[in-house]
Amino acid sequence: MTQEQKFSKVYSNYAGETTADAGNSSTPTRHATPPHPQTGLAIPPHSPTVPALSDAVYFKRPSETLIRISLTLPISMKPPAKLRNLILILGDQLNEDSAAFTDFNPETDAVWMAEVAHESEKVWVAKPRIAIFLSAMRHFRNALITRGWRVFYRALTTNSAEWNGLSTKGIPIETFSAQLAWTIAQTHPEKIIVVEPGEWSVREEITATVRQTGTPLVILPDHHFLCTMEEFATHAKDRKQLRLEYFYRELRTKTGILMDGTKPAGGEWNFDHDNRESFGKNGPGLLPAPRQFPPDPITREVLDMVSARFANHPGELENFAWPVTPADARAALDDFITNRLPDFGRWEDAMWSGEPWLYHSLLSSVLNLKLLNPREVLSAAEQAWREKRAPIASVEGFIRQILGWREYVRGIYWQLMPNYLERNALGASQPLPSFYWTGDTEMNCLRIALRQTLDHGYAHHIQRLMVTGLFSLLLGVRPREIHEWYLAVFVDAVEWVELPNTLGMSQYADGGVMASKPYIASGKYIQRMSNYCTGCRFNPAIRLGPSACPFTTLYWDFLQQHEPTLAKNPRVVMQVRNLQRLTPEEKDAIHLQATQIREACAPKPL
Ligand code: FAD
Ligand code: SF4
Repeated sequence: MTQEQKFSKVYSNYAGETTADAGNSSTPTRHATPPHPQTGLAIPPHSPTVPALSDAVYFKRPSETLIRISLTLPISMKPPAKLRNLILILGDQLNEDSAAFTDFNPETDAVWMAEVAHESEKVWVAKPRIAIFLSAMRHFRNALITRGWRVFYRALTTNSAEWNGLSTKGIPIETFSAQLAWTIAQTHPEKIIVVEPGEWSVREEITATVRQTGTPLVILPDHHFLCTMEEFATHAKDRKQLRLEYFYRELRTKTGILMDGTKPAGGEWNFDHDNRESFGKNGPGLLPAPRQFPPDPITREVLDMVSARFANHPGELENFAWPVTPADARAALDDFITNRLPDFGRWEDAMWSGEPWLYHSLLSSVLNLKLLNPREVLSAAEQAWREKRAPIASVEGFIRQILGWREYVRGIYWQLMPNYLERNALGASQPLPSFYWTGDTEMNCLRIALRQTLDHGYAHHIQRLMVTGLFSLLLGVRPREIHEWYLAVFVDAVEWVELPNTLGMSQYADGGVMASKPYIASGKYIQRMSNYCTGCRFNPAIRLGPSACPFTTLYWDFLQQHEPTLAKNPRVVMQVRNLQRLTPEEKDAIHLQATQIREACAPKPL
């Protein structure tokens, strides 16, 4: 068989996958969705009402109309005699200016993208997160095809015949590596090109899979970020401790962002002292509603598929209105800069019932999918200040999040993986309570933050750090379990950013690499920063007895359990001194009540 014939075969193999679901409802031989350890729920029943989605090679016909190849359509595009470069584009690499495309030649090269069920099943990924990735990928695919580029794209379908890991044409589709190995074997590219993946294990998987085929692999740097891995390594070298503040100042100086010559713009590096207020009793008042992006036909198709294929996964899709294209992302950025940036800093840490968005940007998902370049975001924010449309405190606070935290956590991730994943400095050993997957708890703050997360795939930073994260830290949940929860439920979750935030900042499981102290507080912090306690049956000021706030009881117990470690940390020494004022009887009673809380939080079948 000649190369050209082989190529035609590959094309028609992809094309053949477009056949509509014949309504095959027979039980797959293997679980596409393994039973969840807590729910015990098995594979969702196949829904014959949802049409199967295409799984084809897409291309542009001379008429410029985007079409999907199916068996009924002729393949009018002549495949190349030889494939030079096969460009792998991962689900979070949707930037058209990617380094992977620098040398792209439509005559000799092709792009490969794959939707892989296993990626949504290795942790129990919530529906909004699955949907945003797949919708953004499909929109990106179409944009490449509109350029006239060849794209090998495998879409997930609702065809239950495929849920056993083989497509209807016998192509292995269960895992990323199986699909990739198959494509390489069929197309014999001269070279595989990929930009640095955002997850350690994916990088390993690609490297191992490609190595086995004997094809050269080129891994290119990710130009999306402002700090390269080498620059971060230089920053980290010889430092006893890594701290955001030093890194952030260095990066501002290097990039000139929010700088006046060599001095920080506005005269200070940090305006936190002007930020982070609470709303007080009167609440936030009238809030600027963020721009929504109602699903277009491509997104609707994805939502239908996710509802059917991942029916037993957590989360809801009714409210799905996330940006999924670069144009959407820019509109979301404009909306934020105009309507919410001026008040961002002031209310950055505040929380309020029924108000999930407040003054936050909601840009993390489009940034992490790479639909939006952080330089564009940083420049828009700085310009708003220079044109007196937003105060320096808000603008600096916002820029710190993106130029500072976002780049910093990425550096930490790549410096410390793969061992970072295993860290458990506080020896936490509790399982994750099942109510994290449902929001079904009497604790009002947790119920609100969890339900909002499941409904929208979103909670803002303080809800993540000081409600869901804090409870897990105080309860003593195993870091790996809470990490997998964070990775599963948020639309912006990608391991390079999620893991250091969870393990390091929120759970102190790295023993202080990320954060200079554990973020611990009693229920009184939540009372000060929100109105959650007003609607709660517990009292944040009480640590013992039936009305005691579980956060408060667990906070005092946490201090006792970790007293020797905490007493050495000047940033929490005051909290330890307060503990030392309690009598031994009070301490015992707190420990007993904390133990009862831990027992009551043991996972139950959902
Ligand atoms: P805004 O409040 O408007 O902030 C602006 C931007 O700054 C964000 O879009 C984000 O890109 C960046 N940013 C802010 N804080 C951080 C931070 N700590 N680390 C990195 N970037 C930051 N962020 C993710 O993007 N993905 C995650 O999976 C993720 N997991 C988290 C897990 C935990 C336990 C915690 C405490 C934080 C996590 N964060 C994560 C960081 C932060 O909570 C989110 O970036 C932010 O809430 C997203 O909402 P927003 O876009 O409205 O952000
Ligand atoms: Fe949360 Fe405690 Fe306040 Fe209830 S009283 S909302 S549990 S902090």
